[in-house]
Parts: sequence; C-alpha cells; structure tokens
Amino acid sequence: MKFKMFSVVVGSEACIAKCPFCVSCETPNKENLKSCEINFRNLKIAANLANRSNVDTVMLTSRGEPLLFPDQITDYLHHLKEFNFPFIELQTNGILLQKNKEKYDKYLRLWYDKGLTTITISVVSHRPELNKKNYMQDNSDYINLPELIDYLHDLKFCVRLTCVCCKHMMDNSQEVAEFIKFAKENKVEQVTLRPVNDEYRRESAHLWILENKLTDENKKDMQNYLEKNGTKLLELERIGTIYDVDGQNVLFSLPLTKYTRDTNPENLRNLIFFQDGHIRYEWEMEGGILL
Ligand code: SF4
Repeated sequence: MKFKMFSVVVGSEACIAKCPFCVSCETPNKENLKSCEINFRNLKIAANLANRSNVDTVMLTSRGEPLLFPDQITDYLHHLKEFNFPFIELQTNGILLQKNKEKYDKYLRLWYDKGLTTITISVVSHRPELNKKNYMQDNSDYINLPELIDYLHDLKFCVRLTCVCCKHMMDNSQEVAEFIKFAKENKVEQVTLRPVNDEYRRESAHLWILENKLTDENKKDMQNYLEKNGTKLLELERIGTIYDVDGQNVLFSLPLTKYTRDTNPENLRNLIFFQDGHIRYEWEMEGGILL
C-alpha cells in the first residue's frame, strides 16, 4: 500500500469558531476538552507505513481546533521525531495564537525545536471583515493576520494560508488576485485555494454549502486566472495544481470526493491516524480502515 499524505488527528471536535461549512463545529465544553490517551504503539505502525510510502509531509489536523490540545501536539511531535519526516505541518484557524499569545508562544518555540516546520492558517479571505463574519462567533475583532504571519516568520516557521473558497467570499478571479497580492506582501510561503467541499457534511452545514458552494463557472474563472497569470509548477495527482503567480506559490486544490478517490492500493491519498489507534485511509467512510 502506498499513500501520498499522512494526517495525524489532534484533539476533539471542539473549536472556538463556528464556520457554517464545518464538519463538526462543537462549542468547547468540559467533555470535548478532555484529552484522551493516544495509542503511540499504533502511531508507530502508521508512521512506518507512511515512511514506506515515502510520504514527505505529516499534517497535524483535527475535526476541531488542534490548538485547544497543545500538550497533545507536543507529545505527537516527540513521538514523530524518530521517523524523520521532512515536513510537519499544523493546521489551525490561528485565532488562539494571537488572542492567547502568552500561552502559545512557549509552545510554538518548543514545537519548532521538535520539528514542526509549517503553520497552515485556515481563512475564507484576506479581508478581515469576511474572516470576522466566518470565524468570530462572539463578534469580536478578527485577528491581525499580517501581524500573526510576521510573528510566525520571526519564530522561523513557514506559513501557508489555506483559503476555503465560498460564494461571496472567494469566488472570482479578482478576489484571487487580491488574495495572492496579500500573501505576497506578507511573504507567505504557500497559498492553497480550496473550493468548499460539498460532500460528507453534517446536515446543517450541507444546507449552507448547497447555497454557498462555488459553481463550475466560479472555479473555472479562478483557475483560468492562475493559468493565465501563473506558471504551472507541479501537477499533484488528485491533490491539485501548484502555480507560481508573480513569485507566489499557489495550490489550486481538489476536494477529496468520490471523484478524487483512487481504489488502487498503490495510489491512496491519505493515511490517517486517530488517537485511539485506528488507522484509516478514508475520513468519512467507516469501511476505509486498516487497523
Ligand atoms: S475553524 Fe475549522 S474546526 Fe473550527 S469551526 Fe471552522 S472549519 Fe470547523
């Protein structure tokens, strides 16, 4: 069996934001903030399998906000070190890194030393008002994104902005051009444009997505912009296409759907480790399990 990516699940479904397209969207409470025991024996099995597939990137990710479980991130990094993965990424909405900087500064420095290379910040736009509307449920101000990027660069992290593209937020070439300009001005190393996934969502998210997902025309307009203004650098099968647009790295990403699934076991997209020791190759299909 061969995999392209290795995802390691951190934390629970709890998140301080409440994005309308989120798979889980649970308000943090006593129960979902409890840290569970991690099956490190099986993490080792999964990491060995990823190594055998020559996977170069580990993604620390979650169905909620991973930063709510900082000690779990530390433990994972500690155990992953022996496998020498070149890149280890942490996916986050970034809010706690700035709103609770005192707490997280020491973690970030520790995680850097333990091999974390990249902070992937999820956004819906470069515009603070749109990110505020999407992420800040208490209606407080959105974080100062340029300041956060700058701070992460000072700590020597590579930064990726992953934009979940939805209607009226990131749905046309003009908006893409401005997003790329923002990324370039802030020296963001990598940008991902990911049209909101319209499959496998909780019911309330599904209704929102039906109204707010990109049309094929929207996607074509955005990709045409990249084709016209960028240089195609890499075609990653079933992941997306990477362009250089005026010196900015941009991945136009394909969602993981039945159309991007390959049933050839030598060409699987994702190896996923869950804290309880389960190892799967599908996020949503219960049957996609190895251990
Ligand atoms: S930031 Fe991520 S985990 Fe949190 S609500 Fe939004 S999509 Fe869900």
